[in-house]
Amino acid sequence: MTIRLPSELVAAGLASPEKLADLARVAARYAVAITPDVATLIDRADPRDPIARQFVPDIAELTTTPDERADPIGDDAHSPVEGIVHRYPDRVLLKLVNVCAVYCRFCFRREMVGPGKQMLSPEKRDAALGYIAAHPQIWEVILTGGDPLVLSARRLGDVVRRIAAIEHVKIIRLHTRLPVVSPEKITPALIRALKAPGKTTYVALHANHPRELTPAVRAACARIVDAGIPMVSQSVLLRGVNDDAVTLEALMRAFVECRIKPYYLHHADLAPGTSHFRTTLREGQTLMRALRGRVSGLAQPTYVLDIPGGHGKVPVGPGYIDMCGDAGAMVEDVNGARHKYESSS
Ligand code: SF4
Repeated sequence: MTIRLPSELVAAGLASPEKLADLARVAARYAVAITPDVATLIDRADPRDPIARQFVPDIAELTTTPDERADPIGDDAHSPVEGIVHRYPDRVLLKLVNVCAVYCRFCFRREMVGPGKQMLSPEKRDAALGYIAAHPQIWEVILTGGDPLVLSARRLGDVVRRIAAIEHVKIIRLHTRLPVVSPEKITPALIRALKAPGKTTYVALHANHPRELTPAVRAACARIVDAGIPMVSQSVLLRGVNDDAVTLEALMRAFVECRIKPYYLHHADLAPGTSHFRTTLREGQTLMRALRGRVSGLAQPTYVLDIPGGHGKVPVGPGYIDMCGDAGAMVEDVNGARHKYESSS
């Protein structure tokens, strides 16, 4: 059974009884859920376990720093109708549900997700789909949330088919953590629901540590890819979880081994109560430089920052080039040595 209560965390050996009062304060503020698969993965003997750090509440979450904000990436400023975020011309987010199978302690939408914040009503869903249909520049619809894969296969299939019926939409992308936290829920029926004739579906998998990619998780991802659905990854750079080159390298290699193309490594957003997870941008750049020297291009994600205030996502990885005029440049190799590049064209 999914662990949701502080007393259940203690009973499962995921927290000590002395922490019960602190846990109750955190749980009153932010949703808690740990699936049996995730609970099994946690090493109870390791106080710094990187899986526990992602899912077991911590009193540090009650410290909100002045730079943190409830809507860190500015979704609200770009929401023309409920459930839609239209930040870039050719794509929209469609937030069907505000619940997840687990609640990540660093979640950038932690103020919006949790039990009781269920799904868009049928009327609001119709209005959101109507908005997509009325905007021919929308080429891609990204189902996010919450986790859209917590919907039943029947409900998800219905929405996917309705999106696919909109002629100008060509790509349907679903962002999910479900294959990692409940791999057995990636059933043939759910996978069929993701696909629509004539349209391309992508699944973006959220995982942050190589230990999350267990044999069962790898098998779940293989079922998706074998069905003809390409997968990409997204991870968040998290202090104490994956902020070292060895872990990041293992994570990216694991994705590639699973036929999941590393896509984004997000700089942790300014979500409330998450400062204990945030690295500096400089640390992120140093890690990306280390990764560049260790793994092939196939295993390189783009390190991105969602600019607070709703200004969009930009790459913030290290720079390797200083232009000299239009054709010449000083180019840095992965070891930091600088080389002159000259070209007559
Ligand atoms: S699964 Fe995604 S939306 Fe849900 S809590 Fe984790 S990061 Fe947030």
